Amino acid sequence: MPEHSTGQKASNKLLKLLLKASIISSALIIIIVGYAVSLLYSQHVLEDAEYDAISVGEAIVSLERHLLITLDDQDIERLNVTSDGFNKLDETMQKAMAPFEIIKIKVFSNDGTVVYSTDHSIIGKNDIKNPRLKIALSGGISSNRQKKDEITDLRGEKKFNVDVVETYIPIVNNKGSIIGSFEVYKDVSFSNLKSQDGIEKSLITLTLVLIIVFSLSFLIIRVAAKELNLAQVKLHKMATEDPLTGLKNRPVIIESVQEEISRNQRRQSSGARYPFSLVMIDVDHFKSINDQHGHPVGDQALVKITDTINSTIRAHDLIGRYGGEEFLLLLPDTDLEGAKPIAERVRKSVENIDFLSGDIRIPLTISLGVTTVIADDTDYDQAIKSADKALYQAKDAGRNQVSVVLQP
Ligand code: GH3
Ligand code: MG
Ligand code: MG
Repeated sequence: MPEHSTGQKASNKLLKLLLKASIISSALIIIIVGYAVSLLYSQHVLEDAEYDAISVGEAIVSLERHLLITLDDQDIERLNVTSDGFNKLDETMQKAMAPFEIIKIKVFSNDGTVVYSTDHSIIGKNDIKNPRLKIALSGGISSNRQKKDEITDLRGEKKFNVDVVETYIPIVNNKGSIIGSFEVYKDVSFSNLKSQDGIEKSLITLTLVLIIVFSLSFLIIRVAAKELNLAQVKLHKMATEDPLTGLKNRPVIIESVQEEISRNQRRQSSGARYPFSLVMIDVDHFKSINDQHGHPVGDQALVKITDTINSTIRAHDLIGRYGGEEFLLLLPDTDLEGAKPIAERVRKSVENIDFLSGDIRIPLTISLGVTTVIADDTDYDQAIKSADKALYQAKDAGRNQVSVVLQP
């Protein structure tokens, strides 16, 4: 498989992985942020309701102090709610507190007895075991959030599925002592709805931002991966191809010979013999072409010879530029009887080239050395040396011919 398509596959795989990672991390970010934002909102709703409850407590004490607190003979304020004051307190609660979504208010004495409640039916009951009431009676403020299926508000209207924050606040007298506690129920359904809306909008915005950020990063990485791939293809070409002729370079054609030997040795284990042939080719008197017509013309001659050889050999034959004006031809699955006619055909095709420099026809010929390898224990070096030896025989015999050297 060509290097560049391997690189392409690797970068596609990486991009897919990146896409998966971005989707998973976006989902995680949205879940974590969604959870954190809803915690924050719910904390905010609770704190808001608690703050309102404290204000409500202060407002009741200042509006109806005389109905809740009396001074004893030592000038100490005591909680003292009598049934005479209930109606007046009810009126105040309805008028002043209902608009603020306050649903219910209770007043506890410091022994935990309900001394007043907007719901009169529970007046007189004791709730001292309630831990949050205990906190208020010890000077703290305690709030919690509850869901009520049904609740009656200060105006006597029934409400369903209500989110309520219940807050206990201590009532402190003029000497700083705790004389009782308020319990204030606030309907936070509307604040809740608003906060849910806020959470939804924040999450939609975050999702859009993440989509934009990840899409941009993905696009940038895709472009970078493409460029990297192109650079890799270019580098691979530079490392494996001869720039003048476009043929495989020397290391690559040698590697192909090694691979052919290994392939044949593997196939030989089945008992059969799979010979292949090597043809070493050298341009005749090339130095004089350079000397007489110049180096650029020599280059053009090499390109022309390459094209001619390429169009003469078979599709599965391999050719590489072995040296300056030397080429190595690898003929897979070809014995000596098959290789000789191919070498001869190549020789003739080069001899027939009409190569012109201006008006002058420059004759081009090549000498070829053929050897056939029957894998066995032959190593590539030995095989190439034999082809080289055959080439020198062809040169010695007068050039423009094919010579053969058998493997020792
Ligand atoms: P012979 O028939 O014995 O092979 O003679 P020759 O002149 O071809 O032999 P020699 O090896 O002495 O010369 C090869 C020349 O090829 C020498 C070198 O300058 C030239 N040559 C090598 N590579 C290139 C190239 O890429 N372009 C050009 N124009 N010339 C090259
Ligand atoms: Mg030569
Ligand atoms: Mg040479």
